[in-house]
Amino acid sequence: MKRKNLYLLPESAEPEHYKISLSPDLEKFTFLGFEIVTVDILKPTKKITFHAVDLEIKNSSLVYADQSGGVGFGQKQISYNKRFETVTLESAKTLKPGKAFLNINFEGELNDQMHGFYRTWYELEKGKKTWGAATQFESTDARRCFPCWDEPAKKATFELGITVPKDYTVIFNIDPEKIENLDNGYKHVSFPKTPKMSTYLVAIIVAHLKCIDGKDKNGVAHRVWAIPGKEEHGKFALACSIASVEFYEKKTGISYKSITTDSPKLDMIACPDFASGAMENLGAITYRETAALIDPKNDTAAAKERVAEVVMHENAHMWFGDLVTMKWWNGLWLNEGFATFMSHCAMHDKFPEWDIWTGFVAGDFRSALHLDSLKNSHPIEIYVKSPCEIREIFDDITYAKGSVVNRMAEQYLGEDFWKGLAIYLKRFSYKNADTVDLWQALEKASGKPVRDIMARYTKQSGYPVVKVKTIASNGIVTKIGLSQERFLADGSRDEETQWVVPINVLTQKETTNLEPLSEKNKDFTILGKPEWFKLNSGQSGFYRVAYSDELWNGLVEAVNRGELSNADRIGLLDDSMALAKAGYMKTSQALDMIAAQQYDKEFDGNVWSVLISNLNTINHILDNDEKWKEELASFARKMLRPAFEKLGWSKLPDEKHTNTLLRSAVIRNLGEYGDASMVLESQICFGSSGANLDADLKSVIYSLVAQNGGQTEFDALLKIYDETNDAREKERIQSAISCFKSEEMIKKVIDFSLSERVRKQDWFRIMVMLGYNPKARLIAWNFLKENWNDFHKKYEGNLSLLVRTLKGVTSGFTDEKNLSDIKKFFKAHPLKEAKRTMKQVVETIETNIKWRNRSLEKIKNWLANR
Ligand SMILES: [Zn+2]
Repeated sequence: MKRKNLYLLPESAEPEHYKISLSPDLEKFTFLGFEIVTVDILKPTKKITFHAVDLEIKNSSLVYADQSGGVGFGQKQISYNKRFETVTLESAKTLKPGKAFLNINFEGELNDQMHGFYRTWYELEKGKKTWGAATQFESTDARRCFPCWDEPAKKATFELGITVPKDYTVIFNIDPEKIENLDNGYKHVSFPKTPKMSTYLVAIIVAHLKCIDGKDKNGVAHRVWAIPGKEEHGKFALACSIASVEFYEKKTGISYKSITTDSPKLDMIACPDFASGAMENLGAITYRETAALIDPKNDTAAAKERVAEVVMHENAHMWFGDLVTMKWWNGLWLNEGFATFMSHCAMHDKFPEWDIWTGFVAGDFRSALHLDSLKNSHPIEIYVKSPCEIREIFDDITYAKGSVVNRMAEQYLGEDFWKGLAIYLKRFSYKNADTVDLWQALEKASGKPVRDIMARYTKQSGYPVVKVKTIASNGIVTKIGLSQERFLADGSRDEETQWVVPINVLTQKETTNLEPLSEKNKDFTILGKPEWFKLNSGQSGFYRVAYSDELWNGLVEAVNRGELSNADRIGLLDDSMALAKAGYMKTSQALDMIAAQQYDKEFDGNVWSVLISNLNTINHILDNDEKWKEELASFARKMLRPAFEKLGWSKLPDEKHTNTLLRSAVIRNLGEYGDASMVLESQICFGSSGANLDADLKSVIYSLVAQNGGQTEFDALLKIYDETNDAREKERIQSAISCFKSEEMIKKVIDFSLSERVRKQDWFRIMVMLGYNPKARLIAWNFLKENWNDFHKKYEGNLSLLVRTLKGVTSGFTDEKNLSDIKKFFKAHPLKEAKRTMKQVVETIETNIKWRNRSLEKIKNWLANR
């Protein structure tokens, strides 16, 4: 049974169309608004309630469409509810059911919180700030711009008229139909009616913008908009946009043109101030500059991958989210899980050489496994009510685990998956759907019990660990015993929860699909007596596998001989480290698996990124133990040096995408693990080339220079920072300076992060990076604590960036003293936006402490015997 959600609006009236007029004042940072909402009054009522926050309603009236009367609402009849963010208009007489026009005059603020209708600045002339405005409405902030029924299921059409200074460009979800010049240096821009859509997808951007454009094969214009001078940097995004729209059209059978029938176009707008990565407003997608633009001077493999992923993710939303929208926010994964999964399909199609699916296993798949192994995780489908609760589920469970569930369904159903999706999209076009609607469509297309298997992954927290051992073999067949239980990172047990686990067995010869494991324990028979076997071939299922010692040793040897695929090696590396932490395996066995990769002369970038991550996990819990840290560093150098010998400092013509990415990671980690030649070479390159370095190496060179530098390097880096107007180069330097080691420099970095030179959208990154730096962690934490009230005030209204900062700064601690300090602070400063995050931080630190206490001596023994 669904609990009653008091945050839902009463069902007495429903919007059908909004005609909105806005006049933003870009000097006073306010705006005036007027709207006529066509509403259906559904039952006799005296009250009409809708959403509005930080808006002042000046006056309001209602007239019936059939001209059968109306009513005015004076100030006394308008009441505000702060908790529910609503306004209620109360009439003296009962309003009868029927269609009516609700007229509302209102005023609001162009805030500096990067949500609602907010102000943003840029420089058209060096050193001179110019102000513009943009919107960010997801999840619940359209109500900060105009009074509305701000729920995803209350779909309506929208029309906009807006008055702005003549030299500004205005972008809306649809192209303008009329621009009238006014006498006072202003113009009035009118936009026709949008398709039917949810309020959170409306977008309005007012700024000095220029664009580049192109057309897809249906003739739809795709445009990338940016501050003048940067528009050419949108070329790569433009190509990704066109390619992905064409790919989704092929896969879904629905053209983008048909979604936005009246005036099809796809605008991408790079905004100088933007809180997240991008936002999928229908036909007017907004981006952080670094997610859409690539300055040719800073064109790197990593930048390309980032831009392709974000653009293709946002474009997938035009189908998954914009055309078919979740009924309520508990279905958010239907948006984000699909957009994440589909973007990987599109990337694989456009850039097959990127090996994106192995990257998925090393990336989203692992992130999902890690977060979902906490007791304080949450099910994909979780019933959220308040705006704070909604904001908290924009996390790796919704995005990454959601995409893993889609990938599982696709692998299980094959072509039927795509047929089912077409049914689902068609049936719910311009409407709202629930998860169960998706399962039904997939069942209809495939005739398979999709809901039975999948619902366990969406309705329950966590995932299983499958324990496997050999029972007996006569040489012709081998009997193996499997059992499942929930995997928890700290090793605690939950015997109750169960899954239907898809099982396949990989041997030297082949992959065989077995029956799913639907009971707690079950024996299976496999053919022959394989030398070794691995469950979950290709890491297609969302679970971990714990092998008996004998089977594990066989796998280590198979890896040594180079007999496993890259995705399977990633699975073994990641599972073993997590299982060791939780006490299912010995930490020495996880270390053996790292060492077993030495045979690899290919140095696959994805496998090695996970290997490096495992080394860093061990390094992290050795913390202040300098002697043993050095022992580990010596092992790490021995592992990484051959990779460097192969890759070298210079990019080869036509080299593999993943090799380019790996080069930076290897050099960075060799440098951090004490290979003096990497540091020296970085210092020499930086000294002679400064900002003109090979772009792919800039990030690692800047960081190694900072790590081993002081005031001189700080000044040199900030000189580059001040001279560039490329957001990516600025980001790089923000990350690099967070690597300084001395207390004096770290304090200077904190001061810098608070200066005018760092936008609000970037402050949190510097703090999070300081949290990763063992020398800076405590200083950053003390600073955050001491100034908590100021930060709270500064970010009030949009605390998501502060919550991310809090998590980044605190999660890295591994000692009792800081843990108890953090717990005390959390208790004294409860924050409803960070309720789950705070619990996750504490659980993560406790797990690490427990693991260290249990394994430290064994790690030392293993290292001593290398
Ligand atoms: Zn998304």
